[in-house]
Amino acid sequence: MNLLLTVSLIISSFFGVAARATATESDLRIEVFAVTSDVENHLDTPEGREKAVAVLRRLEATKIVIDLLRSGHLVDPDLARTCRDYFASQGFEVAAGVTTAPGEGGWGHLSPTGHCFCYTHEKTQTDLADLCRRAAEDFDEIIVDDFFMTFCTCPLCERARGARTWEEYRAALMAHVGRNRIVRPAHEANPQCRVIIKYPQWYDKFHEFGYNPDREGRDFDAAWVGTETRDPNTLQYGFVQQFQGFMNFAWIASFHPENTLGAWYDHGDTPAEVFVEQGYQSVLAGAQHLTLFHLHNLLEFGEVQEAFVQSIPTLRTLRELRKVRNLHGVYVYKPLESRGNKGEYFIFDYLGMLGFPVVPCHEFPKENGTVFLSSHALKDPYLLDRMAGHFQKGGSVVLTPALLESLACEREVRTRFGYQEEPISRKKFESNRLRVFDSPLSQPGETKEIRSDQPIRVSFDLHALPDTEIPVRLLADDREIPLFTERATSEGGRAMVLNLSTFSQEDFDAVNERFLPPAPVSFLDMPELAVSRIRSDIVHRDPFLMSAPTRVSSYLLGKDTIVIENFRDGGVRAHLRLDGVWKEILHHIEIIPQTPAGTYAIAIPPREIVALQRE
Ligand SMILES: [Zn+2]
Repeated sequence: MNLLLTVSLIISSFFGVAARATATESDLRIEVFAVTSDVENHLDTPEGREKAVAVLRRLEATKIVIDLLRSGHLVDPDLARTCRDYFASQGFEVAAGVTTAPGEGGWGHLSPTGHCFCYTHEKTQTDLADLCRRAAEDFDEIIVDDFFMTFCTCPLCERARGARTWEEYRAALMAHVGRNRIVRPAHEANPQCRVIIKYPQWYDKFHEFGYNPDREGRDFDAAWVGTETRDPNTLQYGFVQQFQGFMNFAWIASFHPENTLGAWYDHGDTPAEVFVEQGYQSVLAGAQHLTLFHLHNLLEFGEVQEAFVQSIPTLRTLRELRKVRNLHGVYVYKPLESRGNKGEYFIFDYLGMLGFPVVPCHEFPKENGTVFLSSHALKDPYLLDRMAGHFQKGGSVVLTPALLESLACEREVRTRFGYQEEPISRKKFESNRLRVFDSPLSQPGETKEIRSDQPIRVSFDLHALPDTEIPVRLLADDREIPLFTERATSEGGRAMVLNLSTFSQEDFDAVNERFLPPAPVSFLDMPELAVSRIRSDIVHRDPFLMSAPTRVSSYLLGKDTIVIENFRDGGVRAHLRLDGVWKEILHHIEIIPQTPAGTYAIAIPPREIVALQRE
């Protein structure tokens, strides 16, 4: 077993558990997906099915999904029905999987590249309708895995597209196929059948390949969301940060919260501690169902599976906390079909990794408070009016440099945020020297020069007016590059700019990655003092994570609960501002009072999660 995980498990058991929800009173549901090869290799004999039942019970799973199609290959319907009947007789729910991953099995019509099916082609549409009709005759639930997308550009698609952009054509095509070749045939065959769409994790590129969570939330009966972030430090599945699972689920759920029920994650390039973290992110974002992918990996019961079982009581407790509480924090606004192509793909993931509690939303928030706006918000034609209205109510706004650049011609915006006529220039800087003015725990007027272990890279110089506050600066090329600026508004809010950017399309192309974050982001190497200074100005509500390093995330559940997760391989000491009497409810970890009054410290073990609740 991985040493860190061992230490973490020992610490967990040392601290004991409190306020645990038991399996019978918890509504958290654990489910296992059996891909076609699992069905054919592991569930084709009575002994194989018995072994699977034993593993499902060990995982506290109550449902199994029998995949009927994968990579163009169909499972024998008799075998699928045998599995259905056996697992049902053992007390499990059973659903059918439909996976339109490309393959040469003879099903559908492949795009000439072979990388996806051509959904324009009649054979793909007919085969899909036939399969969904038959699946619904045999099962009361169908879940469509996340290959229901297209990047086919064959002559047939090209002709059908006409004058439309590829995005427009794919949106129309997949809407038609989803409604008329998946959901309708299934409902005609079995009106009771629940038809579920499962989303991939790459939310910032959905609309490029045909996904639309607003439309599909109406067409399908329910949504499951990919939270399979995997190892954040390897390129194999992208340098995806753990927080992306939370962001993806919570953003999709903002469209149709009542239908967004399940999360789904897997074992691919996933160390045990990340497998556990994927579950925590899913449940904190609102998932009631966790689908584990896939059976073959679970039958080999090893370190990852053992860690998952150990995490189940915590998952159940987190679910109990979350299901009756809404998220609070900084609103992050990503309109439908908005894109990150100004160097900001997946920027929202990094806000969470910097420790900001966030509330993902697809509509501009009506509530007062703080809203984070990146160039994604340019999709909103009323953006300037909405910003003005938000400021008038006393709200605060955080802009990215890419959005500030796009709004530079607006004098009102420049004045609000305290910027010169040409507010930014695009130039790359790199340094590990920073200057911080007034840390959250220091006396006013204190200035500190600090160093990061790894260089911090920025893509913009910001040209603020002399009376704009610049609390955190990067010292590079004899310049002091603002990393964060702010100005108080006359209505009581703040106008802030965070000099953060992530990836452009060129960064994806450079490593031949289509969907997933293609590189590490150096902002996550920012020293604790600097990130805490920025956090203290962006987040000003209680309870509040005052100081903690990056890669420590926080979640505000209702007004009485704060959850903090440490994604670091070392323990951290976090400082919080808490109003009233609080206790840690997962591990009985002590919260130690500090000076000044109202501030507390808590030690969080490596790769561990804690939950603090007001008494
Ligand atoms: Zn095609």
